[in-house]
Amino acid sequence: KIVAHRGYWRTEGSAQNSITSLKKAAEIGCYGSEFDVWITADGVPVVFHDATVNGIRIEDTTYATLMNIRLANGEFIPTLQQYLTEGAKLEGCQLILEIKTHRNDERNKRAADMAVELVKMLGLEQKTEYIAFSKVVCQRLHEITPASKIAYLNGELSPAQVKEMGISGIDYNEKVFVKHPEWLQEAKQLGIEVNVWTVDGEENLRHHATLDGIDIITTNDPEALKGILAEQQAAKQPAAK
Ligand code: MG
Repeated sequence: KIVAHRGYWRTEGSAQNSITSLKKAAEIGCYGSEFDVWITADGVPVVFHDATVNGIRIEDTTYATLMNIRLANGEFIPTLQQYLTEGAKLEGCQLILEIKTHRNDERNKRAADMAVELVKMLGLEQKTEYIAFSKVVCQRLHEITPASKIAYLNGELSPAQVKEMGISGIDYNEKVFVKHPEWLQEAKQLGIEVNVWTVDGEENLRHHATLDGIDIITTNDPEALKGILAEQQAAKQPAAK
């Protein structure tokens, strides 16, 4: 399965974490589109990758100071509510919601609570999957939305340890599986879903596309991966008569 990292943004008119990037990921048939969530000082969840925008720390500023800042494609920084509202209209593209690691655990929990509240309010429980580097965030998510898919990003826990936390998946950097190739089989046996990030470049995509035990590839090149998977699929089919 293909997840577009920060949406499908390496294409005309798009930008990382823009609503356009989400729509474009859905358009090319990605399994999901990933995006990053911070909460502002006044408690507004916004979609943006970095901790700072133009030198302003998102956690320390109000939404009012961010709302007129434009992304590379001219769109404004979306609030999570705006983002999810657009996502709700898209057929067949999962919303892969990353909660960024905030300053302290109180804020981490608040970010998880606010994101889940919005997801529930918009009726998007089935369509949303969560990812986070923070164990506290993953545990909180598991508490408040136990039926949701939740994957841990930080890479130091084995599939068994993740399973013990009640988390449904691991979403690890590609280097982790070079160090721990045995985790792929371990995860499979335990029913832990495996996502690998951020896999880019033709050769690397090909390598991961054939690696046994990988369920999902998160990439900045979703179109390239789509081509590779289609090719592999075609090669598996018996030759046409
Ligand atoms: Mg992310």
